[in-house]
Amino acid sequence: MIEHLFKKMDQGAALFRNDLVSLLELEDQDAIEALFKKAYQVKLAHVGNRVRLRGLVEISNICIKECLYCGIRKGNSKVCRYRMREEEIVDGALVTWKSGYGSLVLQAGEQQSEGWTAFIERLLCRIKKETRNELGITLSLGEQSRETYERWFKAGAHRYLLRIESSNRDLYSKIHPENHDFHKRLNALNDLRKIGYQVGTGVMIGLPWQTTGDLADDILFLKEIDVDMVGMGPYLIHGDTPLARQCPDFHHRKSHQLAMGLKMIALVRIVLKDVNIAATTALQTLDPKGREMGLLAGANVIMPNVSRMDYKPDYSLYDNKPGQDESSEKSFEILRQNIEAIGETIGFHEWGDSPHFLKKA
Ligand code: SAH
Repeated sequence: MIEHLFKKMDQGAALFRNDLVSLLELEDQDAIEALFKKAYQVKLAHVGNRVRLRGLVEISNICIKECLYCGIRKGNSKVCRYRMREEEIVDGALVTWKSGYGSLVLQAGEQQSEGWTAFIERLLCRIKKETRNELGITLSLGEQSRETYERWFKAGAHRYLLRIESSNRDLYSKIHPENHDFHKRLNALNDLRKIGYQVGTGVMIGLPWQTTGDLADDILFLKEIDVDMVGMGPYLIHGDTPLARQCPDFHHRKSHQLAMGLKMIALVRIVLKDVNIAATTALQTLDPKGREMGLLAGANVIMPNVSRMDYKPDYSLYDNKPGQDESSEKSFEILRQNIEAIGETIGFHEWGDSPHFLKKA
């Protein structure tokens, strides 16, 4: 059965939903290793072994949303809310630029107001100017109107990350309150594409109620909407959230979460081939070498956190987020050594755009 699937993959034949489910359910360690090896070959053939870096600045934890799993949801009154000042964010961009990371990601909780739109617009123009247009800029600022996305695109952002969280509408509605709309999020992804952004989306892996069939559907969904970038990671508990209270004994599935996270990366690489795939911080939370494992399973992007030390603890999406008590420079030095130790190189001073997007252009 499994041999048959490996043969299918070697021949480059399309994997069906059932095939993906079988591969996601692999338990045999040798078979799982073989899957990662296969994904790594596909990665070498389509995107190479150069790791793309994006300096991540978490610019604000203020959020109007109530996602039931997220630590910075509006209703969590324990969070100390912040919005970085323009000067501080520009400093973060300059550190990213001078460190040679090539690209920047600005991420925040969701805010929708003319003041916020104009603030980001001004910021983008400034960063572009002060880094001589050498820094690629990705935004991850949630759902916005098409007009807002257009303004930010014109101001210099060219990539946008907006996770669909789960492509199963029923599961989506179980992990969000009623006023969070799956279709609105899908439309936002469409708007971004039409405007000309490189579009990234993804899901959380190992959510309560989620089946391997759901995850197989997620992979097929990513293929169908023709994304350029994929950012996905294991679901992790944040103690002060409704989902944690509803499913309190979810902790014991930690090793399973890591394995599923890696299998998803491998299968997305095998099915989508030439997209950029991030090895996310959530993997690192489950294992100190989780991101490097992600690279070996097919990922090619890492987003080192360059946020200031004093803000890091307040951007707590889930419990035990790593690197909170360590300087970004120190964390990066360890990461660099680990990347080189697994035989990969780093694409310094490059935007590292999605090869899939560039082919379409
Ligand atoms: N507000 C923005 C971006 C910030 S949240 C947006 O909506 O796009 C970034 C991502 O963190 C979310 O898309 C979600 O997938 C992830 N996340 C939030 N809580 C999490 C948790 N408990 N475990 C794992 N990932 C989580």
